Amino acid sequence: MESMTFVLFGATGDLAKRKIYPALYNLYLDKKMPSTFSIIGVGRRDWSDEEFQASIVKSVRTFSRRTQVESQQMDEFVEAFRYCAVDVTNPQAFIPLLERVKEREAALQIPENRMFYLSVAPEFFEVISSNIKTSGLGTTNGWKRLIIEKPFGNDLKSAQLLNEKLSAAFEEEEIYRIDHYLGKPMVQNLEALEFANPVFQALWNNQYIANVQITAGETVGVEERAGYYDHAGAIRDMVQNHMLQMLMMTAMHVPKRITANDIRAQKRQVMEAVRPLQKEEVSQHVVRGQYGAGEMLDKHVVGYRAEPGVQPQSMTDTFVAARVWIDDPYWKGVPFYIRTGKRMKEKSTKIVIEFKNPLEQLYHHQQEKPAPNLLIISVNPDEGIALQVNSKNPSNSGKIEPVTVDFSAGTKDVPEAYELLLFDALRGDSTYFAHWTEVELSWMWVEPILEAFRENLVPLHTYPAGSNGPDASEELLRADGFQWWLDK
Ligand code: NAD
Repeated sequence: MESMTFVLFGATGDLAKRKIYPALYNLYLDKKMPSTFSIIGVGRRDWSDEEFQASIVKSVRTFSRRTQVESQQMDEFVEAFRYCAVDVTNPQAFIPLLERVKEREAALQIPENRMFYLSVAPEFFEVISSNIKTSGLGTTNGWKRLIIEKPFGNDLKSAQLLNEKLSAAFEEEEIYRIDHYLGKPMVQNLEALEFANPVFQALWNNQYIANVQITAGETVGVEERAGYYDHAGAIRDMVQNHMLQMLMMTAMHVPKRITANDIRAQKRQVMEAVRPLQKEEVSQHVVRGQYGAGEMLDKHVVGYRAEPGVQPQSMTDTFVAARVWIDDPYWKGVPFYIRTGKRMKEKSTKIVIEFKNPLEQLYHHQQEKPAPNLLIISVNPDEGIALQVNSKNPSNSGKIEPVTVDFSAGTKDVPEAYELLLFDALRGDSTYFAHWTEVELSWMWVEPILEAFRENLVPLHTYPAGSNGPDASEELLRADGFQWWLDK
């Protein structure tokens, strides 16, 4: 891996502390960082290099997945860090930043490979990228790359505008849009599951699959994020990005080769085939919910509207379920159901594939129909793959009962999403970053839903905190003769 400079905007922020420094540290220990590197942290605070380095040590000790932190390795690691106080809205302030970057490049004798990471509020994305260009920070003899956090726009138009602005300073191949769900090992594993296993590959189509269910449930409420969330809702916070990315990864077809370009082309084809919704029909396919008060782990929690910072009459969706059709020859007629919510009963991200059972009638003499085969991909917090199959139970008069073949990946010492993603970005592999066309197509699909929500064309169902969401979400599947599997 080539030596480089990593310029982190938002170096004193929450994400940097909780995710980025621990990820860099773990990459360093695993020898997945370049042999020589320079990291320049940028923030508003007036910190010295020493204060900055002390904050890195603290964040790694607090948040790293590795509990053992050796002092000597830690010293070597933080030696690479320098701090530069910059008001990113002031173009002049980028001049000393450029000097600092160059000074370190010269001292370490490293090429002008520069990685810029925007871990700041989205209102700064444009100004920073434009100042990188005008200051000359982005004019290098080596490569330059931009890693950008979510949210990428607030609707289709703002996303397009943001992309235009970024494109003035960076080429598409240089932009790495983080969707941290794409960094989750089991989401990355979907590709191998589908394409490295002929058994599954043969079944991965509408001849054998009855429906696909993608759920991302959170037990937490809005927490301290009301300022952002009350304007965003689950539809922007989860559906437009993470849920649709998981849908693309699940539904993509065999690429020619396993390369970033080919995989992203397959994902794009899926998104292009997703049937657009008309505003007037959104209510038939999309369920909108908001959590009310309820009991969670024997504790009473308040409803969304009573949360600090939330408008008392807020109509914001904290739950969305949707039926999605992919109109291509592989998936025609197979509903994909997506569902995400806050204050749900279980913190769990899962993809469940329900298979058809054409021979169901053979077992008509049994009181109950055999259960369907289910392939269950657990993404978070546990990681694993399980297959539910039918088997005769000799202890129960040979009755056919479902049993589960279960592979659970150990959760210990598995690299975190940010580690996998940063490692890929450092070596220039953009497979698990969202391409602009994926982002744009996703916003296009979501746009009529945003309008229908805004115009109240879709009822807002209240669901008790600690439940599986509103009844209307059960009804969505029942109408097609299905049910959500694995709800406790
Ligand atoms: P934060 O508010 O904790 O940190 C913001 C950082 O921006 C600070 O370092 C601050 O110094 C810097 N900053 C603000 N104004 C500045 C200015 N004018 N000039 C220079 N620096 C300035 O935010 P965060 O939680 O770390 O989030 C950063 C980004 O990551 C956001 O885009 C957020 O949406 C995204 N994100 C955060 C999380 C998370 O878990 N915190 C998760 C996913 C995505």
